[in-house]
Amino acid sequence: MYIPENESSIKSIRIPTWSFKVVAGLLGALMIYSSFSAYALNNLNKKYETSLKNIQELTEINNCQKIEIENLNLNAQKIKEQLEQNIKALEEVKSAVGLKSETSTETDEKDFSDNISHLPVDDTYSVYSNTNSYDLSDEISNLKTSLISLSKQTLSQKTEIDESIVSINKRLDYLRCVPSIVPVVGRITSGYGYRKNPFTSRGSQFHYGVDFAAPYGTDVVATGDGTVLFAGYHAGYGRMVIISHGYGFTTSYSHNSKLLVKKGDKVKKGQVIAKVGSSGRSTGTHLHYEVKLNGKNVNPAKYF
Ligand SMILES: [Zn+2]
Repeated sequence: MYIPENESSIKSIRIPTWSFKVVAGLLGALMIYSSFSAYALNNLNKKYETSLKNIQELTEINNCQKIEIENLNLNAQKIKEQLEQNIKALEEVKSAVGLKSETSTETDEKDFSDNISHLPVDDTYSVYSNTNSYDLSDEISNLKTSLISLSKQTLSQKTEIDESIVSINKRLDYLRCVPSIVPVVGRITSGYGYRKNPFTSRGSQFHYGVDFAAPYGTDVVATGDGTVLFAGYHAGYGRMVIISHGYGFTTSYSHNSKLLVKKGDKVKKGQVIAKVGSSGRSTGTHLHYEVKLNGKNVNPAKYF
């Protein structure tokens, strides 16, 4: 009701009761909407926090996997180096036994590349780089298994090669030392065994070596690697060289005109050690050559 100052006329304004209901209804709707909005916002916030947490966890996993892959790549590199060493060792073996290794090197390198290329090292890493949220556990596990297997094979191969090198080198040393060539280019005039006495032409005597007739001054060579035990003059054998070859073998070279080595010298198979002559008890220019095994004379013809 509205009452003016002069009270001349009193006016009354009537507000209909339904309008209060409308306002109350609007207020109620607004409250419900607000509550719903707050609830929805809260849910959205929770989802956001969960997602953020998941992303952080995935990032951590990815970082760990990145380190693992880097370590595995390092291991792959080490294995690669080990394989290269093996190939090198294999080359040494082939070279030692006088085999050409060019073709087989290519094969080895190809095999090596094949072994490495089946490992998903680079591919896996690129997958990781491109898609940051991939779980690479399976790839890492496969890579680990392959690397361990390859590493074991490599070490076993290396051990085998090292052992082969040792035994082949021993064998080669034996072959270098054992008398195995003729000491001089010449005609054999007398073999090992009983023969007529060349000085009296009567009766027989045992000839402990092989005689080679050759022109005066012809080269006399060591028949195997060894060390000079004696180089000097002997009443019967004249200017003489005795070489110790190891493995129970000694060789002697007699009646020389000149000696080119001295006691203690290391000599190689084929090295010139003296010149043919007729010094000592000799009927003509020739080389008298003997081979002893464990101190006993053996037929030198077995060792040409
Ligand atoms: Zn003789």
